[in-house]
Amino acid sequence: MGIIFFVLGLCVGSFLNMYQYRLARKYKLIKNKKFKIDNKRSYCDYCGKQLHWYENVPVISWIIQRGKTRCCGKKLPIQYPLLELSMGIIFVLINFNYVYLVIASLLIFSLVFDLKYMIIPDRTNLALVIIALIFFRNNFLVGLGSLLFFFILNRIKIRGSEAMGMGDVKYSLFMGLFLGWPNILVAIYFAFVVGAVVSIILLIFKIVKKENPIPFGPFLIIGTIVAKIYGEQIIKYFFGVILN
Ligand SMILES: [Zn+2]
Repeated sequence: MGIIFFVLGLCVGSFLNMYQYRLARKYKLIKNKKFKIDNKRSYCDYCGKQLHWYENVPVISWIIQRGKTRCCGKKLPIQYPLLELSMGIIFVLINFNYVYLVIASLLIFSLVFDLKYMIIPDRTNLALVIIALIFFRNNFLVGLGSLLFFFILNRIKIRGSEAMGMGDVKYSLFMGLFLGWPNILVAIYFAFVVGAVVSIILLIFKIVKKENPIPFGPFLIIGTIVAKIYGEQIIKYFFGVILN
């Protein structure tokens, strides 16, 4: 059974790669005037040529073509097979829980999109919130509280620019609904601490420059996943340390 979920995950990963490119072009985050995106099935990112099925097999095509497009020989980012493999593994781990399969796909999509383009797309946030309102509506107040907290952070400006983007604010509504109380605290704590540590490391080693902002969304998303899986253990441990 695992193999079926693995293959399904690979295919979803492949779809996410494709959709991310299309959405980025729609938002004009990628400028490529060479070809128009109409409703072509699958096409080359660089020259727009329609792809054969064998150029479109998750992971395997990338390996056979040695990370290059067959049509025009341009480099295909390592992100493509990595995302496909990650989705394969995530699907095997989640297994039959369909709601979580959809949420995981949307979360990983938002994470990669934010890393690349510094935006959590509205439509993935909206999809996440709708799913959370259906399946986790018991946590409605936590969602509202989380939204308010991040909205206030968004209003605080550091050196004239927003410390917290509106994409993060919208995402925080999902986070509160999905995690509930007190797991939401674990996610927020994780995001701020790990976000700060990673940002400092990236700045010290000059991997990013001071002018280039580091997206906060990926930390919120990883924090959400950590809190969902380990939240209770972390809280128990934390209170254990305080009480002893
Ligand atoms: Zn091409």
